[in-house]
Amino acid sequence: MTANGQLDVVVVGAGFNGLYQLHRLRAEGFAVELVEAAPELGGVWYWNSYPGARVDSHVPNYEFSLPEIWRDWYWTERFPGRDELVAYFRHVGDVLDLHRDIRLSTRVERARFDDVTHRWTLTTDGGDDLVCRSLVLCTGFATAPYVPDIPGLDRARWHHTGRWPEAGVDLDGKKVAVIGTGASAVQVVQEASKVVDHLTVFQRTPVTALAMQQRRLTVEGQDEAKRSYPELFRRRNEPPGSLHDIERLDVSALAVSDAERRRVYEEAWAKGGFHYWVGTFNDIGIDEAANRTAYDFWCEQVRARITDAELADILAPLEPPYPFGTKRPSLEQDYYDVVNQDNVTVVDVRADPITGIGAAGVDTDAGHHEADVIVMATGFDANTGGLTAIDITDTRGVSLRTRWADGVDTHLGVAVSGLPNLLFLYGPQSPTAFCNGPTCAELQGEWVVEFLVRMREEGRTRFEATPDAEAAWTAQLDLVAEMSLLGKTDSWYMSANVPGKRRQLLNYPLSDDYLERLRAEADADLPGFVLT
Ligand code: FAD
Repeated sequence: MTANGQLDVVVVGAGFNGLYQLHRLRAEGFAVELVEAAPELGGVWYWNSYPGARVDSHVPNYEFSLPEIWRDWYWTERFPGRDELVAYFRHVGDVLDLHRDIRLSTRVERARFDDVTHRWTLTTDGGDDLVCRSLVLCTGFATAPYVPDIPGLDRARWHHTGRWPEAGVDLDGKKVAVIGTGASAVQVVQEASKVVDHLTVFQRTPVTALAMQQRRLTVEGQDEAKRSYPELFRRRNEPPGSLHDIERLDVSALAVSDAERRRVYEEAWAKGGFHYWVGTFNDIGIDEAANRTAYDFWCEQVRARITDAELADILAPLEPPYPFGTKRPSLEQDYYDVVNQDNVTVVDVRADPITGIGAAGVDTDAGHHEADVIVMATGFDANTGGLTAIDITDTRGVSLRTRWADGVDTHLGVAVSGLPNLLFLYGPQSPTAFCNGPTCAELQGEWVVEFLVRMREEGRTRFEATPDAEAAWTAQLDLVAEMSLLGKTDSWYMSANVPGKRRQLLNYPLSDDYLERLRAEADADLPGFVLT
């Protein structure tokens, strides 16, 4: 608190972004408080406690680069599971002494800006009001679960992966239905198939799951590796490839021999993780013929493991259902093995649509599938859902939800006109889901810290993005969608997974370009903002 009892900044959300903001803004001398709806730190890793939940980005890339945090922290696996990630966040809170400025189990429900005092007033579900000069929303891109409108939902017993009960759900010996085949579904299927009586998986669109190549990690191995962490994190946070940790080759998939192309694909596959997605040729994301070579290699690897030809055609059709990589690939350990088990059935809902669900299971056109437990792995109102869930109005009294009903406009994915003194991180129209979470928290996060320090030094009490700057940034994203293959696919990157949302690219894939634009904005004295 400042001398007059008011806060300089309120940060909302205790995931990678919010915690980094709290740590850095406090270090810069701001009076900051962080408000978090969950009873624990960790953001998505608190909420996504479904069986098998684990990160698809490998450590140490998927952790903060601050030595005081990694020095004493050891992982057990290259791709850690959810419980280990939650423990990591506890460690982060302890080492940085963050807990004293965090209100847990508190949801921000309403935010109003006073244009006389230039301050926000936030109302929480506990009824308390918080007043602050600036508001930094780190509410996450996958905060609001999306549940499709299926008849009978109200009578059925179901759990969404993003709101899994903390106490767990007993799947042992049960009949289980998993609706969806995105990244979370793949993880649930792998785990559940080993304990259930029967598992029915309802697939609308095949996922292009890639080899995880999971490994156990030892303390000795990590001690050895930590000697090069400073260099590793320096490279992670710098171009080329900043905001994600894997570099593409600077060559077209079509410019090399078949043998060379195969060598590159085999090497990326063996490395595991997202290497096969973002670490091969430079035109996979923009040229259909190049993209097809990546799909075909993937298809070959996967089909070789599926014993039934009909099932192979459902899970890995010979003709690509969408350009490879334009939907988020999942990582798998034995997904394409467990689907062969007698106790696993895959239903292709394009051929046999779901007609309803109820207490006894899931109905499709062709029949009834018994289920004691129904798992909704149906994703999120991605990118915007966490922000629009807050009752927040602009200076003309129009809610953000209404503003964005016909499409999103932001300035560089960090600010919105009509919402002064408000910045958000890892939100719509910034690299977000194309960006390694903690890297983004540090790089986009530093820009926000620098911005707020500058406002303070210049004695500014009000900043606001301009509509022109927003329109220009939306146009840039539309251009990228048109020029790349991303625009060809109905994905949540394209805001196309939730009925009624305008189809538009909401994650910017050119991370180096994005960072340059942020830098240019600051160097040119913030032309996209009006400063008062
Ligand atoms: P989050 O971690 O989403 O935290 C946001 C927090 O804000 C939440 O705790 C929420 O409770 C809180 N909040 C929201 N609204 C309010 C409110 N009104 N009041 C109070 N609190 C509020 N990224 C990768 O880089 N690699 C991966 O492999 C990867 N895997 C993922 C797997 C899953 C299942 C999910 C859901 C996401 C994954 N991500 C991955 C993306 C992940 O979101 C980021 O890596 C990172 O965790 C984002 O951190 P954040 O701080 O922006 O938001």
